[in-house]
Amino acid sequence: NRILCLATRPDKSLSPEHFTILEEKIGPLGPDDVLVRNTWLSIDPSVRLRLHAVTPNGYLPPFEVGEPLVGLALGVVVESRSSRFSPGDTVTHMYGYRDCAVVPAGGGGLGGAGSLTKIETDGFAPQWFLGPLGSSGLTAYVGLVEIIGLQPADVLWVSAAAGAVGSIAAQLAVLRGSTVIASAGNQDKVDYLRDGLGVHSAFDYHSGDVTTLVADAAPDGIDAYFDNVGGDHFDAALANLRTGGRIAMCGAISGYDVAAPGPGPSNTFQITAKSLSIRGFRAGSFAHLYDAMRFEVGTHLSDGSMVHRESVYEELEQAPTALVDLLNGRTTGKTLCRLA
Ligand code: NDP
Repeated sequence: NRILCLATRPDKSLSPEHFTILEEKIGPLGPDDVLVRNTWLSIDPSVRLRLHAVTPNGYLPPFEVGEPLVGLALGVVVESRSSRFSPGDTVTHMYGYRDCAVVPAGGGGLGGAGSLTKIETDGFAPQWFLGPLGSSGLTAYVGLVEIIGLQPADVLWVSAAAGAVGSIAAQLAVLRGSTVIASAGNQDKVDYLRDGLGVHSAFDYHSGDVTTLVADAAPDGIDAYFDNVGGDHFDAALANLRTGGRIAMCGAISGYDVAAPGPGPSNTFQITAKSLSIRGFRAGSFAHLYDAMRFEVGTHLSDGSMVHRESVYEELEQAPTALVDLLNGRTTGKTLCRLA
C-alpha cells in the first residue's frame, strides 16, 4: 500500500519535492477496523498549515517529517470487522493520502468530521460528498447561515470565491437574495464568478489595492464579509464594512504558504468604531447541519440553479502537485485527486 509522507519541512513555499511516497504492508484487521480503498482525496489548504513546525494553538498538530499525511478522503469498503459497515459501502474518513486505509469504525481519534461515515450518494457524483455536498459545502453554509446570519438585504463580500468553499458561499448567498461581491486571483476566475456563479460584482485582487477594489464594487459599503484569505483582504473588509457589519473568519490562506504570516491589520480600531462582529468557526463542529446543507445545496445542484467545477489530478503521485497548485491559485472549484 502506498502512503504520501512529508519528506522535508518547507521553510518557504511548498513544492512537490517536500513529499515522498512510502510503501507499507497492510496487516490483518483489528476488531472494529474497516479496510477502505480510497477513490478520491480532498485537497485542502489546511494541510499546508500542518506542514509548519508549529501550528496555531487549538488547531490540529503539525505533521512530522517521515510521517504519513492524513486528510479527508472518499472510498469504498473492501473488508469490514464492524457491524456498521459492509463491503461496497461508500464512505468518507480522514485517512486520505494513501491508496488503501485501515480505518477504525469509531474514528480512530481523528474525531469530528474525521469519523468513518457512510454516504448515500442519491444519484450525485460520489466526490461531491467531499466538495459541495461535503466539507466544503458545510463550511460555506455554516459561515453564511450560522456565523454571519445572512439576510437578503445584506451586501456580502466573499474572497477566494472561485474556490471550493467560496464558490458555494457566493452562490448560496445569491440564491438567498443577497447582493454578492466576489474576488479571485485572475480574469478567467472573475469571468466565472460573474457569468457562472451569477454574483453581482467581481474583481481580481491583483488588479489594485484591495480596499479600493471593494469600495469601487460597493460604494455604500458592505454588511458582511466571508473571509477565506486574511491579510490585506481582512484589512480591506474592516475598512469597507458598515456599522454593525459581520465577518465570518473561515480561513486565512494568504498566511499559510509562507515562512511566517505578515504583520496584522493596521486598522483594527474600525472594529470598535463600527461595532463590528468577527467570529471564527470550524465547520467540523457543525456536523449536525449536514442534512440542512445537503437539502439546500443538493436542491440547487439538481435543478441547475447552482454550478460546480472540479480540478482533478490523477493518482497519489499527483497529490503534492494538486496541493501546490491549489495554494498558488492554479485550481478552480473543488480540488481533488482521483485514485484508480
Ligand atoms: P480553495 O479551493 O478556495 O483554494 C484556495 C484558493 O485560495 C486558491 O484557489 C487561491 O485562489 C486562493 N489564494 C491562495 N493564496 C491567496 C492569497 N495570498 N490571497 C488571496 N487568495 C489566495 O480552498 P478551500 O475552498 O478548500 O478553502 C478556502 C478557505 O477556507 C481556506 O482558507 C481554508 O483554510 C478555509 N477552510 C476553513 C474551514 C473551516 O472549518 N473554517 C474548512 C475548510 C476550509 P485565487 O486564484 O483566487 O488566488
